[in-house]
Amino acid sequence: MSIPSSFIDQLLDQTDIVDIVGRRIPLNKKGSNYWCQCPFHDDSNPSMAVNQEKQFFYCFVCQESGNAIHFLRQYENLEFVDAIETLASSVGMTVPYENNRSEKSKPSGLVEKAVKFYQANLNGTTAPKAVQYLKDRKITGATAKKFNIGYAQDKWDGLLNHLGAETSSIELDESGLFSRKDDRFYDRFRGRVIFPIRNIKGDFIAMGGRIIDEGEPKYLNSPETPFFNKSNELFGLYEVKELEKNIASLIVVEGYMDVIGLYEHGIKNAVATLGTAVTPNHVSKIMRYTNKIFFAFDGDLAGGKAAWKAVENTFPIIREDINIHFVFFEQGHDPDSYINENGLEAFKKLLDESISLSSYFLSKVKEFNLETLEGRAQAASFAIPIVNKINNSVIKEIYSTEVSKLCGMDVKTMDVSSSRALRQESDHVMRSTSNTPVRVKAVISIFSALLAFPAIAEEPLFDELKNNPKFDFLFVILDLYKQKPDIKPSRVIESLESDQIKGYFSEAVVAGLELSEKNALKLVNDCMDILLKNQKDREQTLKDKYNVSSITPAERRDLQQIILKKQEITDDDRNWLEKLSSKQD
Ligand SMILES: [Zn+2]
Repeated sequence: MSIPSSFIDQLLDQTDIVDIVGRRIPLNKKGSNYWCQCPFHDDSNPSMAVNQEKQFFYCFVCQESGNAIHFLRQYENLEFVDAIETLASSVGMTVPYENNRSEKSKPSGLVEKAVKFYQANLNGTTAPKAVQYLKDRKITGATAKKFNIGYAQDKWDGLLNHLGAETSSIELDESGLFSRKDDRFYDRFRGRVIFPIRNIKGDFIAMGGRIIDEGEPKYLNSPETPFFNKSNELFGLYEVKELEKNIASLIVVEGYMDVIGLYEHGIKNAVATLGTAVTPNHVSKIMRYTNKIFFAFDGDLAGGKAAWKAVENTFPIIREDINIHFVFFEQGHDPDSYINENGLEAFKKLLDESISLSSYFLSKVKEFNLETLEGRAQAASFAIPIVNKINNSVIKEIYSTEVSKLCGMDVKTMDVSSSRALRQESDHVMRSTSNTPVRVKAVISIFSALLAFPAIAEEPLFDELKNNPKFDFLFVILDLYKQKPDIKPSRVIESLESDQIKGYFSEAVVAGLELSEKNALKLVNDCMDILLKNQKDREQTLKDKYNVSSITPAERRDLQQIILKKQEITDDDRNWLEKLSSKQD
């Protein structure tokens, strides 16, 4: 799947990284940057700078950096395409996919043909039982049409014969609609009411089937295919989006009959997971379309477990602007049966009376015997790992405070022990950045000068480093500025291979030095002196080591390289090269 790079540029122009980060982590403006606690390491200070002018973020401790797309990918653990989709939907843009979308993820169209075939079956004379089933479930023809409900006859080759011999076996195999035995294909769905599943673009990608007569399993779903990933898709999401461009709220239920039953009664914003628990992918997908979510689960033990799974998968990505509620049905009821028995108003009342995520979580903590010390300790050890999953610092603070109150102990200090190792690591990095070696400072300053005056890239100032492969990165950057003087810093970063250099460049971006052209040139000259002198020092150090026979093979090679790369090789250099190669073992 490919997205034109012009669209990505346009998207980055239309979005504001301060808004993207700020919706997830509280920001404070200080100087030319916004600051927050970095979500990518265990941060106790605001170490992450977000720069509005450059549309860029950078953490001074863990050195994570990049543009809004990169932030979303890291923060919400998204694939590149999903991050683009998220960003685009936040500003109401539609992602234009190019025709050369990889064949792998594109539905072949076979599923759509099957949907049409099954739909025709339902409308024909072969499906009296299926029609009766839908009537019993009080599904009208209009609703059946809206969801493209169909019927698969109880035959091994109904669909196979319909699709004809010209369909390749690879296509048949990848569609997920057939099972294969001894090199022959058989219809996977037989004697079932068919519920087609569409992706968010409306393509038919899979289906679920409910058995009509006795038989197992009662519900059968398509297997995973190159274009159907259960833990990613939500039944009904496309249909909700069709009705409502800006979705006010979504109700997450467990089965497609719940979605359809609710729709029939006027609740047209339900979506269902497909035979799996709510995954983090589901939650982040839902949060892309709405900030009000109801999880509606069956009133049995399995429903309780499913709800808890939803809590666990929601905590890492919860934000202040997201409202999450839980609805539980009494034992033996599911959303469909409840609305059938009690009607629309009663269902709406349930939504009004739903329990918030925080109340639900705290009610679980209260299930421990908080009267006793042991009970409070158990409650704390249950709650702390879950609270620690929260990345949003404000929400984490609120939950920690509440849990501390309930358990009668400060759980905020208790999370320190579990993350001590991480913190020590970041302290170490902190120390190393606070006394940055001069050559690193020189590199960063050169970047600052380039950022202020891209035309410097054209100057012959850097030639003396040209033959040194250690500085290849500098020439990659110089070339980028030569080709496109107004290139965005985040695009420069993307072109860099080394994380270390990315970090240095980011530091320069965030520092945002204001330089006159004259000072920028002077700065580059000074820095070049430092870098070249640094090389001279290194040469002398290695020679000294050689003289006391404590040079390592790697250092020996390094010294050879330094000498070989000189623009002019003197007699002394030649002697050294001879010495270094003759004593090589
Ligand atoms: Zn960090």
